[in-house]
Amino acid sequence: KNTGKISLDQIDALSVKSFPLCMRQLHRALRDSHHLRHGGRMQYGLFLKGIGLTLEQALEFWKKEFIRGKVDADKFDKGYAYSIRHSYGKEGKRTDYTPYSCMKIIMSNPPSQGDYHGVKCTNTVIVRCPFRHSDPELLKQKLQSYKISPSGITQVLELVKGMHYQLACQKYFELTHDVDDIGFSLNHPNQYFTESQKLLSG
Ligand code: SF4
Repeated sequence: KNTGKISLDQIDALSVKSFPLCMRQLHRALRDSHHLRHGGRMQYGLFLKGIGLTLEQALEFWKKEFIRGKVDADKFDKGYAYSIRHSYGKEGKRTDYTPYSCMKIIMSNPPSQGDYHGVKCTNTVIVRCPFRHSDPELLKQKLQSYKISPSGITQVLELVKGMHYQLACQKYFELTHDVDDIGFSLNHPNQYFTESQKLLSG
């Protein structure tokens, strides 16, 4: 188990280096708007659990961010904390929820407008799988802002066009880690993270 391996102040840097695009965008949206709606909280929260955040760390992480927005500490403790404990199997039926796979994320319905910014809909960060659910033009702009080369962007967009979303994600991995062939077949955001960490630390 990874539990307890990550400290909260590493998350910003890790989100840039080792998170798949879906989680990188959710992290950014959370930092920018200090809120995520339920779907995004589940997708991102379970991912963080998968990379090793303990329940205590998760509660601290979400609370710190939410109280910078419109949620006060009391409201957080009464409402959101429950669902976080729940996702760690500490409430309700005590199901220990596992992080979503790419398939589950890709097969979800596209997010409706505002299903992730909660407070003010000022950004257009797309959650779920950005290769599947983003408008290609927005995806292109996003990749440009991440300094992906024009030829790399073309390759990613070709794969998206052919509906090969996970292959597009693999290509994004190769481009951002400067490898020719990732040598595994991607099916889970947490796998992406683990492989990235292996590569960067090895
Ligand atoms: Fe996330 Fe999987 Fe989509 Fe990659 S293919 S962005 S890991 S959901």
